[in-house]
Amino acid sequence: MKAAYSISKLVYPAAIRRFEKQKNTVFFTFDDGPDPQVTPQILYLLNRFGAKATFFCLGQNIEKYPTLFNEILSQGHSVGNHGYTHLDGFKCTNDEFLKNAEKGFFLSRSRLFRPPYGRMKPIQYQWAKRRFKIVLWDIMSEDYDEEKSANEIIDNVISNITHGSIVVFHDSKQAQKNLFEVLPVLLHRLSHLVFEKIPMDIQ
Ligand SMILES: [Zn+2]
Repeated sequence: MKAAYSISKLVYPAAIRRFEKQKNTVFFTFDDGPDPQVTPQILYLLNRFGAKATFFCLGQNIEKYPTLFNEILSQGHSVGNHGYTHLDGFKCTNDEFLKNAEKGFFLSRSRLFRPPYGRMKPIQYQWAKRRFKIVLWDIMSEDYDEEKSANEIIDNVISNITHGSIVVFHDSKQAQKNLFEVLPVLLHRLSHLVFEKIPMDIQ
């Protein structure tokens, strides 16, 4: 994970991975939703702990669940664009990548952009950094990995978290089992920190 972090810093220097100056603050982010089986429970938990977060939504899910998408915003969280579908920039043409990201922007109306899998080809990156604010992460929870136990995920997040960390979770069915166990524990054990959303008008 540390190696991946430094490589990404070299390859995508304009991307945000952490807000180093935000002392005692962490930024939880949820990718791939909204999903009616998962997202409402996350919203409930965040609300219970007075936490704010950022949801990097897929355009196709915003289309399917517009009410749920609006609910995220009306509860005071922020949203970002994760593309229209979960397109891998390494495995599609630049044109496909660009159109997919634009369609995601059209639906999310957010300039915060997180490319699926956190990767783009150099040309895609050059384009995306001019058009959007690219947001990656410093901690990947790997909540989607069904081989991992909830405790492993919790330990990984707790031991790596630092000032202004951006942590990735997934409001997807695949991550659901781990996430519902992990999230309340993390919100409780890190309750000395402030859980903040990433501002959508960030420069
Ligand atoms: Zn994703």
